[in-house]
Order: sequence, then C-alpha cells, then structure tokens
Amino acid sequence: ASFEDMGFCTTALSDNIRRCRYVRPTPIQRHAIPVAMAGRDLMACAQTGSGKTAAFCFPIISRILVDKPQKTANNYNRSHQRSALARPRALILAPTRELSSQIHDEAKKFSYQTGLKVAVAYGGAPIVPQLRILEKGVDILVATPGRLMDMIERENVSLQNIKYLALDEADRMLDMGFERQVRKIVQQMGMPQPGARQTMLFSATFPAQIQRLASDFLTNYIFITA
Ligand code: AMP
Repeated sequence: ASFEDMGFCTTALSDNIRRCRYVRPTPIQRHAIPVAMAGRDLMACAQTGSGKTAAFCFPIISRILVDKPQKTANNYNRSHQRSALARPRALILAPTRELSSQIHDEAKKFSYQTGLKVAVAYGGAPIVPQLRILEKGVDILVATPGRLMDMIERENVSLQNIKYLALDEADRMLDMGFERQVRKIVQQMGMPQPGARQTMLFSATFPAQIQRLASDFLTNYIFITA
C-alpha cells in the first residue's frame, strides 16, 4: 500500500505528503487511514513514534475538504457585539502543551495550500495571542482540555460544528486527570448521532477506563492495533 492508493481528495495533501518525504505508510497509517477515509469511528493502539499524527490528520484534512471545498474557515461569527466565536470543524485533543504544539506543527505542514486554517490552544501560555489567531477563523483546532474549556466558557470557541474529533494519547489524558474535562468537551458536541461526528481515539494502552470512553464516544467503531 502507498499513500497514492488511499483516496485522498486533494493533490495539495499528496504534494505535502511527498514534501514531508513520507514514502511508505507506517503500519498504523496502513490500517487506520482506510478506516477513517471510509468515515468509520476507530480506536487505535498506537505508541509515540508510530506515525499516529498523520494517521488522524490525513483523513481529517481530506474529508473536511470534501465536505465544503468552497468555504473554509469562514466560520467566525462577529454578529454578537460581546464576544466573537470560533467554530472549528475538526478538534484534536492532546494531553500536553508539547504534544499539542507538535501536532499543530505537523497539521500545518500537512494542510499547506489546502486553504484550511489550523490553530492551537494550550495552557501555560497567554490566552490572548491564541485568541487572536482563532479570530482569523479556524477549521482544525488542536487543543489541551483545560485551555479549551476556558475558551468554551469565555465563549470564544463553540464546538457545535465539530464533525471530526481525534483524541490523542487518551490514556495519558486520563492519567493526568482530564477525564471530567474531556467528557464535558465531548458533551458540548451534542449526541453522537450516527454520521453526525467521526471520532478517532488513540491510546498506547487499553485499560477499562479507556474502553469506557470508547463505548461512550464512539459509534460502531473499528479496533486497530498495528
Ligand atoms: P508520530 O508517531 O506521529 O509522532 O510520528 C513520528 C515521526 O515519524 C514523525 O517525525 C513523523 O514526521 C514521522 N513519520 C510519520 N509517518 C511517516 C511515514 N509514513 N514515513 C516517514 N516518516 C513518517
């Protein structure tokens, strides 16, 4: 299998994959990408260094462009006088500032010249510069749970338009005590009606707590180990 056979909708993404010098998909990419491209929910067992970032980013980028190729990042609503609201269509949740920042860097490279806007929100850094970037519109938001909850509560971000959700290193998010926040965040997206949202859960381990998250967040999901 090669990236050419994976049915990505856009030549820009394929060009970016080549530019990153990804020649052969890693095992997790080979297994997860076709499932995600088919629109299915998935739970994937993946370690750091396995290539999991691309495994969830490529399908998100490809599918989001098919949804509305003509209208990207036109999702920032200034009509309320009080606070403006960013409405991303994809959310990638990660446990730490470092990981969210790495995912953001990769996602930006992968979406170069697609017209998609990627932004990041993490704690331990001033919120205002992050909000400035959100104000320009965001299609794909990478975030840590605490900072995202802040932005939701301040009414800077709405999750009502989220169609693609990826949870990266879910076991670490739970170890760090983020379960309540993660559940609150997912609740903001409404009920997971079939077809309404595609969710991808990545975790290095699968204790009972992660399996419960999977059965609460995912619909008819495919389990992947690579
Ligand atoms: P990740 O597990 O997503 O953190 O990726 C680990 C490293 O592998 C990163 O430096 C990626 O840029 C790189 N990588 C991911 N997929 C591929 C691939 N198919 N070919 C070559 N390098 C890759």
